[in-house]
Amino acid sequence: MIEEVASSGPAAAGEAFTDRYRDEFMAQVKAKNPGEVEFHQAVAEVAESVQLIYQKRPELAKARIFERMVEPERQIMFRVPWVDDQGRVQINRGFRVEFSSAIGPYKGGLRFHPSVYLGIIKFLGFEQVFKNALTTTPIGGGKGGSDFDPKGKSDNEVMRFCHSFMNELFRHIGPDTDVPAGDIGVGGREIGFLFGQYKKLTNTFTGVLTGKGLGWGGSLVRTEATGYGLVYFVSQMLQDMGMDWKGRKVVVSGSGNVAIYATQKVHELGGKVVAMSDSGGYIVDEAGIDLDTVRRIKEVERGRIREYVDARRGAQFIEGWEGIWTVPCDIALPSATQNEIDGKAARTLVTNGCKAVGEGANMPSTPEAIDIFQDSGVAFGPAKAANAGGVATSALEMMQNSMRLSWHFDEVDRRLRVIMNDIYKQCTDAAEAFGKSGNLVAGANIAGFTKVADAMLAQGVV
Ligand code: NDP
Repeated sequence: MIEEVASSGPAAAGEAFTDRYRDEFMAQVKAKNPGEVEFHQAVAEVAESVQLIYQKRPELAKARIFERMVEPERQIMFRVPWVDDQGRVQINRGFRVEFSSAIGPYKGGLRFHPSVYLGIIKFLGFEQVFKNALTTTPIGGGKGGSDFDPKGKSDNEVMRFCHSFMNELFRHIGPDTDVPAGDIGVGGREIGFLFGQYKKLTNTFTGVLTGKGLGWGGSLVRTEATGYGLVYFVSQMLQDMGMDWKGRKVVVSGSGNVAIYATQKVHELGGKVVAMSDSGGYIVDEAGIDLDTVRRIKEVERGRIREYVDARRGAQFIEGWEGIWTVPCDIALPSATQNEIDGKAARTLVTNGCKAVGEGANMPSTPEAIDIFQDSGVAFGPAKAANAGGVATSALEMMQNSMRLSWHFDEVDRRLRVIMNDIYKQCTDAAEAFGKSGNLVAGANIAGFTKVADAMLAQGVV
């Protein structure tokens, strides 16, 4: 057994993960990763839970597991040059952060959005490590993307960009190494172009990306999985509160992949989604959002949510996405982007009688917002547990690819439901075991961290 001794820092002196240690640790994370505020936020949130774990498991503190976890195993940044429809050369920046392979190949989506920089990819990759551990499937954590904005680009421009992106990425990924998927700005079209170029460059047809088309290796339910999984998870939360979806008013932010399929499942279960949004503003339809109209605008025409009111009399469009949280609801499902619910929005939701929040997006609530929900008795399902259905179904896609077979829709949906129930149970059990009964934030962090930490301990200092 390798003797793992900290060379410096409080752990070297045998000090437990005290408040002082935590502050020093966070100061180091900030100094080593300057300006990456989203990454700092994601680490700080997990640090609170690690403090509890280290008290019970001093061997993890001694092996400096958390200190190792915040350092990605590998970070790749690269130039992505491409030519637009006017013949001009454009240059974007590409990223892949391979965070942890402790329990399986790196796995996590690609985000194409102008706001992407290293700090966003690192926060997403870090969260992904714990989320993937919770899914009960053998996948490590990673994330990637680019500051490329697919909005307003022609299909040919998107294709040229994706091909150029893959010209570098292909050498770092593989079905047993790193398996990317979609995220904001990366849907079926982009995955197709990326997969095509990977196949051409490597002369292999493998499950190297998930979210593939159904005719070429994709899995049924993958498109719906994050939204459906979110609703399955929140169903468990509601059940513990003696509630269900029937007749409940629901607000879902965003109108992309996660938001659309969360809305579909809420409607199936008897709830009524009354508001959705995009980065330009939000729509309110008290009669219940007509999902066919949203899907036509967003999935077929790639239009803007404001166009909804042209088709639905009685619906309203309001400029500015932030206002969506002023719409009264029983249940809120933030499914657009990080930090979209701040303290003020959280207070408004609480005042308006919101009883449960399930995070569809990654880190959509600020730390202040989470405190407000928890202090007000609002049931709160954190992203790394509540939105894990997407990556879990990606893992099911990988299994089907390996076996070269396809399961039926009902079979994948059944497995997804089992996984979401299992994640919920892991979170509640871990919270209970650590004296944080009902706190799903602590529960998700503890359960996810412990699984990865035990694997790291077993594998020694690598
Ligand atoms: P999409 O690109 O399909 O949709 C994103 C939606 O959010 C769009 O309506 C978009 O509006 C809106 N949005 C994006 N950025 C902003 C912003 N800064 N302010 C307001 N609205 C914004 O992405 P997904 O649905 O796939 O992803 C949504 C969230 O869910 C992300 O946080 C992602 O990381 C997370 N997630 C996704 C998974 C998946 O399987 N797809 C899995 C787990 C988590 P607009 O079109 O105007 O930009």
